[in-house]
Parts: sequence; C-alpha cells; structure tokens
Amino acid sequence: MMSAPRLEIDLCKIHHNACLLVERLGKRGISVTGVTKAALGSAEIAATLLEAGVKRLGDSRIENIEAMRFAQVAAAMTLIRSPMLSQAKRVVMSANVSCNTEIEVIKKLSLEAQKAGRTHGVILMVELGDLREGIMPEDVTDTVRETLNLPNIDFKGIGTNLACRSGVSPDSRNMAMLSELADSIETTLGLSVEIVSGGNSANLEWALSGAEIGRVNDLRLGEAILLGCETLHRQPIDGLHTDAITLCAEVIEAKVKPSKPSGTIAQTAFGEVPPSTDRGLVTQALLAVGQQDIDPSGLQAPTGIDVLGASSDHLILESDCFELSVGAEVVFQLNYSALVRAMTSPFVTKVMTPASPSAEPIQI
Ligand SMILES: *Cc1c(COP(=O)(O)O)cnc(C)c1O
Repeated sequence: MMSAPRLEIDLCKIHHNACLLVERLGKRGISVTGVTKAALGSAEIAATLLEAGVKRLGDSRIENIEAMRFAQVAAAMTLIRSPMLSQAKRVVMSANVSCNTEIEVIKKLSLEAQKAGRTHGVILMVELGDLREGIMPEDVTDTVRETLNLPNIDFKGIGTNLACRSGVSPDSRNMAMLSELADSIETTLGLSVEIVSGGNSANLEWALSGAEIGRVNDLRLGEAILLGCETLHRQPIDGLHTDAITLCAEVIEAKVKPSKPSGTIAQTAFGEVPPSTDRGLVTQALLAVGQQDIDPSGLQAPTGIDVLGASSDHLILESDCFELSVGAEVVFQLNYSALVRAMTSPFVTKVMTPASPSAEPIQI
C-alpha cells in the first residue's frame, strides 16, 4: 500500500514533454533552461530534463540549487531570482550564473567571487512591462558597463520576464525591444551578448508562432514541461502530457449530508464566507489533504466529482456517480499553484515512476 496523499511523478512523461519542447524550440534557434523550482530541486527530475536536452538548469531558490549540487547533478545552473545580498556567498558557491537587477548585489557577488577564487556569470534582467523584476531599458547599457568593471564577474547576457505579475503577453513588440537592446549593447560597448533569455512558458505561443525570433536564444521553462500547458491561456500544448504529475488523496469520511449548512453563518477557517445553496441531500466525501498541502482551486477532479472546498487538513468533495468510500483514493490533476504547494508539503509523499518501466518506483 503506497502512502497518501502522494504526488505521482511520471519521469517518462516529463522526459517526453521536455524533449518535444527542446526540439521545437531548437528549430527556432532557442535553447531551453529547464526550471526546477516547482520540483523542489529534485535530482531525478533535474536529470530527466538534462537527458531530454535542456542546456542548463534554472531555479529561483539557492536551496534547490544547493540540493542539486549535493546530489551531484552535473549541469550549469542559473539562479533565476535576483540574489539576496545575504545569500551572495552561497550564490557564488553553487550557481554558475544569476539573474540580476541591482548593481549593489552584483558588487557583492564580485567580492564573494574574488574571495572564493571563482568567476560568477551575470544575466541582467530588463523591465519590459510586466512590472516585476527588471532594469528600466534606458538604464541597461550603463549597468552592463558597471558590471564589466567588476572583478570575477562575467557578463553573460540579458533577459526578461513577462506574464508573471501583470499577465503581459510576450509578443513581437516586447521581444523585438529585447533584441534591439542586445544589439545596442554590442555596438555601444563592443562586446558580444551571449545569452538573450526571452522569458518563461508564457513565451511559447510567441516562440512557436513563426514570429521573428530576433536575438532571443533561450527560454526558461518550468510549468510547460511539468504540466504540458502554455501559461497565457493554460491550454494543453500539442503532443505534450498534461498528467505527468498527479495527486492521489484518500477518503476518510463518506456520508450523505445536507448541502446547506445549518446555524448562524460567519467566517470559515480561511476567512471566507461560504456559498450556501440548497441542493438537498448530497453524497459528500472528506479527503485527508488540505490547504496546507494543496491549493484546492487548482485541483481538477475526475469528471463527476466536484471539489467543494478545503480547510487546513480536509478536502471536501461531492459526487453522485462515484463510489467514494472510506479508504478509496481519488486522483487529481494539478495546476501550478496546487503543484508547488504539494511539492513543498512534507505531508505529501513524492513517488516517481522511473523512465525505465522495469525499475522500482522511487519514493521520497
Ligand atoms: C518561474 C520562473 C520561470 C519559469 O516559469 P514557468 O512559467 O514555470 O515556465 C522563468 N523565469 C523566471 C524568472 C521565473 O521566476
């Protein structure tokens, strides 16, 4: 009996997804940085991405990069979130490259790199409208110039990130701006901009549409590989598996109950005011998984089962056509938000189906 709740991670399907994206983007002259942050630095997932042909790994957390180093994952690794000043030393020790927007941080990286006798690569992130991280475009050339003056720092290129904070879509206009910036840095400063990292899974529609790619030669992909969806409209990508990772949770109570609560209604455990429709008596099941482990709004139950809500430790389902008896397991697909929470929860076991069918499942 396998323990529940658990994430079932099919490395074969992840390998397939990564291969297809690497191949399709390769035809457009774009390499893939495989983003492992949702995989919590899993060495098995990292190795699967590398086997599929991603050029390097990227993660937003230095802890994950350290974990992959510790597990002897042999790859170039980029920290894709601006380093904390307080973590500069760890960044230099474990990541080859980091994405940066503050010269103060790059100076600290330079100091730590000198102390350690290492060279650290820097990608400068450019603000192109989504209003999360990024140097304003008019300031980028000056920042490159300052970066070039710092000992033990290797200027690797520029990048941008869209569609995360404000949902700004990558398109011909903002991608052309990034390319023009790369060209202008090269002419002004007489150097070559090696990496032009155009964005994340939200860039796939643009990158595979036949649009002019310009100087963009790298995309940082996480969600599209793991969940098989593009992220502007969350549509499945042709040929990719959308069920490479599923969640199994176990029923701990199954009863027929009224659909409408009784008594004076105030706030729920999470401060919401619950909807209160009367659908008469319903068949309700409680599963032993909750807000602490998943985002209930990001779970997709099998057809015929509705997710009604969740508190910290309970997920409430309703179904009239399924036998949701005590001990039964229900399998869900997850969105990114449910996935990262489940990956992070120590209460959710991670079971990996290995790439080779004969091998035993790996449980961690
Ligand atoms: C998370 C992240 C990515 C990967 O995003 P996906 O949507 O998972 O492809 C890329 N770049 C940065 C800076 C990120 O934070």
